Amino acid sequence: MSMSSLSSSNKPDIRGLSLVELTKAFTAIGEKPFRAKQIFDWIYKNGAMDFDSMSNISSDLRTKLKENFFLSSPKIVEEHISNDGTKKFLFEMADREKVETVIIPTATRATVCVSTQAGCKFGCKFCASGIGGWTRNLTAAEILSEILYAKSKSNLHPLSHIVFMGTGEPLDNYDNLMQAIRLINAKEGLGIAARRITVSTCGVIPKILQLAKEGLQIELAISLHGYNDESRKVLMPVNKKYPMNDLIAACREYIKATKRQITFEYILIKDVTCSPEAVRELGMLLKGMICKMNLIPYNPVSEFDHKMPTRQEMFDFQDSLERAGIHATIRTPRGRDVGAACGQLRHTAQKSAAV
Ligand code: SF4
Repeated sequence: MSMSSLSSSNKPDIRGLSLVELTKAFTAIGEKPFRAKQIFDWIYKNGAMDFDSMSNISSDLRTKLKENFFLSSPKIVEEHISNDGTKKFLFEMADREKVETVIIPTATRATVCVSTQAGCKFGCKFCASGIGGWTRNLTAAEILSEILYAKSKSNLHPLSHIVFMGTGEPLDNYDNLMQAIRLINAKEGLGIAARRITVSTCGVIPKILQLAKEGLQIELAISLHGYNDESRKVLMPVNKKYPMNDLIAACREYIKATKRQITFEYILIKDVTCSPEAVRELGMLLKGMICKMNLIPYNPVSEFDHKMPTRQEMFDFQDSLERAGIHATIRTPRGRDVGAACGQLRHTAQKSAAV
């Protein structure tokens, strides 16, 4: 049984256990192994948030479940729906830590953007998530509870894609992230294909190489946000530990092992990240690589003194990248009226609590 599934009461959170782990745990308490699959169906197919809603389970077994396990049900403290249909939730965990989750619907699908840590250690100089520092890792069960809640609220289209791009650095919480991913991917779990799961990292090289060896075709997104070491370390302190050339070499390894294209996230900040020099350097750095670049217009955060470029400047930068051989698209901002950029809602809640 993974430590990541233990709750503060020292009972394992049933939602963080694999079917094999749950079957073993059931055998240990004298229950028939097939009951584990029944409980799995309640959690993953029917979205049960507590033991009492498992109506075809006998009351004796429900009592036994409560004695031996825990089923976390984070409290929703804020819920916002944007004009463009983006839904944003602020969850409060059992220890009152808050994390945010976003559902992004499009014409044909629904994607959930998931947090993996309460706060973040990496302190990127454009991101609200890092401002208050890091408090703790989320457990696999907590990560899954964000996704299962989003699934229950995704009424336009069934939830089909998961992106780990919310608060926290997913690869800094590797074991819990992978436990959650295996349950998302398992047919007895959510049954979502690895190619529909994206892990976004600021560039934790040893973990990128570890992920490459998992045998899963998980989509990898790299927060690049700079065109050489000098420019990147201004915005991303992590670049001091994991410099650009080593990061790009790890990305090439990842592509070789998984046969997947990598997405580079690149923030557009006026007079900082979009320049002819940036295009030249990026063209050389990414030469011959199976990748695409996602250009993200900067979303203002009051603590940082950056500005968004004009629309024309963004289009000109995109054109120049294409001419340099890099396929680039500009991300349409979603949910700006409800503060849907990374960490904004949690940060605002922390600020209000401090007043
Ligand atoms: S961009 Fe990601 S790694 Fe950087 S501070 Fe924000 S959450 Fe952390």
